[in-house]
Amino acid sequence: MATALSIPHARMSMWSQAGRLRLAVARGTRLAAQPSRPRLAHFAPRACAGSEHANDIGASDPFTVTTPLYYVNAAPHMGSAYPTIAADAIARYQRLRGRPVTFITGTDEHGEKIALAAASRGLEPQAHCDDIVSSYKALWRDLDIAYDSFIRTTDGRHEALVSAVLERVWQRGDIYKADYEGYYCVDCEEYKDEADMDAEKNCPVHRKPCVNRKEENYFFALSKYQAQLEELCSDPDFVQPESRRNEVLGWVKQGVRDFSISRAAVEWGIPVPRDPRQTVYVWFDALNGYLSGLLREGHAEASPEALASAGWPASLHVIGKDILRFHAVYWPAMLMSAGLPPPRRVFGHGFLTKDGLKMGKSLGNVLEPTALVGAYGADAVRYYFLREIVFGQDGDFSEERFRNIVNANLANDVGNLLNRTLNLLKKNCGGQLPLDSAALPADHPLRALAAEKVPAVAAAFDRLRFDQACEAALSISGRGNQYLEEVAPWTAFKKGSEEDKAAAAAALVAVLEAVRVVAVLLSPVTPSLSARIYRQLGLPEEAVAALRWSDTEWGALRAGHAMPQPQPVMQRLEGDYVTEPAPAAAAAPVGAKA
Ligand SMILES: [Zn+2]
Repeated sequence: MATALSIPHARMSMWSQAGRLRLAVARGTRLAAQPSRPRLAHFAPRACAGSEHANDIGASDPFTVTTPLYYVNAAPHMGSAYPTIAADAIARYQRLRGRPVTFITGTDEHGEKIALAAASRGLEPQAHCDDIVSSYKALWRDLDIAYDSFIRTTDGRHEALVSAVLERVWQRGDIYKADYEGYYCVDCEEYKDEADMDAEKNCPVHRKPCVNRKEENYFFALSKYQAQLEELCSDPDFVQPESRRNEVLGWVKQGVRDFSISRAAVEWGIPVPRDPRQTVYVWFDALNGYLSGLLREGHAEASPEALASAGWPASLHVIGKDILRFHAVYWPAMLMSAGLPPPRRVFGHGFLTKDGLKMGKSLGNVLEPTALVGAYGADAVRYYFLREIVFGQDGDFSEERFRNIVNANLANDVGNLLNRTLNLLKKNCGGQLPLDSAALPADHPLRALAAEKVPAVAAAFDRLRFDQACEAALSISGRGNQYLEEVAPWTAFKKGSEEDKAAAAAALVAVLEAVRVVAVLLSPVTPSLSARIYRQLGLPEEAVAALRWSDTEWGALRAGHAMPQPQPVMQRLEGDYVTEPAPAAAAAPVGAKA
């Protein structure tokens, strides 16, 4: 194991030999695939997936991707499921590329709002959190979310890490005590500027009055990091998409201000080690979850060396655009203060609407991910949100469009193509492949198209353009359907010469191989569907979990290979709708004429 380690020169000085060996034992196989190229000592973000410089990254470089740590005031909603689906697709794609991936998700469990939510249910805060966390974990299981680490901010390892990071920041001289008076929104867990509130001092997000508070708090000297933050946020790779970068750079250029990192009035939190009468501010607490999520149970060492060997800095934080300030401004400065590199990229995704309207309890149009996945399955839900929404932009869900797209693309273009081809093979070739797919010429229309589209899909995934990745993959099955109609093998089987029949059989092999390639390409998006396709092709279903990008190469299906009984791999979505209809339609006056 130790011989597989190649320690970057830049790290040698930071890394004690003893520490390395201990970690090598503690972390097992993950270390075998540590970076083999020197890293810049300077904390500039480097290119990662999604960049045109993606090729700068070695295929074996570790890749750490995170979702937001979800606030457990209530059960998960679609706004939590969406970025988790996206992060899972990114993690699966990077694993396909052979990179050692750490995919972190988790929950943010401290703060006044959680204590209030628990009290309103007559529960202790911890019991409330445990209950909500179990609903998150159940949803992630149902949505095929294959995370490596689920960090809870009430975990012992997290609390120990927060204390350790806070101590490093303290020793750096970046924490001071001061009186603070301002208007606080409990729902945002944030003091608001005068300019952000209306005349009645309402929170612009929650439309509720902010409360005037005065307390002695500990402050983090964010303003010390003004120059570094300007440099960091000017890097086109750091905040994405570009529209969000301009927004963040705008805030930073206005001048960043110190912020309070403790609360005297909040009991449900991590006590400040140097002053246990105060608790750590929820954001300072929760952001550190991206570090503690990398540590194994019982390991709370926050040294830069231990975190680097566990996968820090994160390659990508996937977050909602509303929490960009915390992730792209506060968090990097906290890390710099603690002597840690900032994440390489922060990607702000857009918001979801339903039937063109903002979702909300008052409109009765909240999208329940549990109902959706229960009725339609993980593949359909994952596919719709990744195929239909340009990642980074706002997106809309309509159950009708959802069904139409999934039925047209997955049930028809892919599923039905596979099913009818397998039935033709069964009827005319005894269900056995007559030749190796590799024997088909390189200029065969399906083979040539696959060769063209595979790099296009990779480039799209690298840019986090899931929509384009799906589109490029589906263009192969689309051509497969067209090809089958052109060749019409059923005619040759019925009345053709022996030569015609051999050509017809070869056409079936070409289509099946094309569907197999599509299954590999779609596996980050629809992992269960890809596994079912593999099973239908008589390939081991487990092979899907072990797939590598090299499996997109044409030629895996072999002559003599027997296919199982053809069965549909994707049911059409039909039956009763499971989400509320669009309120506009529901509210139309009875008898109104169009
Ligand atoms: Zn608010």
